[in-house]
Amino acid sequence: MQETNFIQAFPGYEFKQNQALSAYTNTRVGGPADWIFWPKNNDELREVVAYAHQADIPVTVLGNASNLIISDQGLTGLVIFLTELTELTVDTDAKTVTAAAGAAIIDVTQFAYEHGLSGLEWAAGIPGSVGGAVYMNAGAYGGQVDHCLVGADVLTPDGELKHYSNAELDFGYRHSAVQATGEVIISATFALENDDPAQINARMEDFNERRASKQPLEYPSCGSVFKRPEGHFAGKLIMDSGLQGFQIGGAQVSTKHAGFIVNKGDATGADYVAVIHHVQDEVKAQYDIALEPEVRILD
Ligand SMILES: Cc1cc2nc3c(=O)[nH]c(=O)nc-3n(C[C@H](O)[C@H](O)[C@H](O)COP(=O)(O)OP(=O)(O)OC[C@H]3O[C@@H](n4cnc5c(N)ncnc54)[C@H](O)[C@@H]3O)c2cc1C
Repeated sequence: MQETNFIQAFPGYEFKQNQALSAYTNTRVGGPADWIFWPKNNDELREVVAYAHQADIPVTVLGNASNLIISDQGLTGLVIFLTELTELTVDTDAKTVTAAAGAAIIDVTQFAYEHGLSGLEWAAGIPGSVGGAVYMNAGAYGGQVDHCLVGADVLTPDGELKHYSNAELDFGYRHSAVQATGEVIISATFALENDDPAQINARMEDFNERRASKQPLEYPSCGSVFKRPEGHFAGKLIMDSGLQGFQIGGAQVSTKHAGFIVNKGDATGADYVAVIHHVQDEVKAQYDIALEPEVRILD
């Protein structure tokens, strides 16, 4: 990795040096990044990604950081937040919505509803970005990204633009092909259906009410920590193992929804990882089931 000063190399671009990532993550944990960059457009993004690639500087691309636990040591190299790339467009004839990767998935669902387009209601309360939702193949209440995604544009590490169809993204449960390629998702197009806006809104409100009643939204968290093991629910296994309320430092297995680990105020990345390991050990000991994290643990 070459020694680089991004602020000098890219005057006018928005960089910060040695910033704690806890200020940006949904869990409120995470040590410093050497560099953080917020591109204002795809050209800036492409230029900086290609530069970092050539200089052998590790790049981590993040959206809303709602599905992450970042270590207290932080991240080496360059962290790119796409949260300023938020353009949304609609093609009413084709019944598609195209969203830039940094757009909040909540805003995309609202935009679709305002255009009388149905198919994304399930995502109305997911606090991630479009890029993160595609990367994770996010889903809820029977809906999932791969059910309605037409395709996505990506940027390769050396700065080339590519398009992937839904099939090429090789979606699975919380899996997409991009997880292995290191490519940056820059936009995604969703195929939707016309419906009565009042009906669409009613479904979104219903899902959001269900969320608020079951999930500990009053605390910082990263959503459901574990994948659903075949034939079981992670939250129920954790609850039945007597782990609700189990706490290390400031990280606690939620007393409202056992699938969540909440930050009670002063949690560290190490607290989160220790709680995850304890939960895995207990569920394995009591039910002989191996829980696999759904959240990305970055260190
Ligand atoms: C309260 C709460 C409720 C949640 N409910 C749900 C739910 O119902 N269903 C569900 O599936 N998830 C849920 N989540 C988890 C999370 O919101 C989703 O996984 C979301 O899609 C992640 O998006 P993000 O932008 O926050 O991704 P981040 O957390 O920023 O990143 C997640 C991963 O995606 C990668 N990534 C992000 N953007 C890009 C990009 N543009 N190109 C390439 N890689 C990228 C990152 O490198 C990282 O590995 C919930 C989280 C919380 C806190």
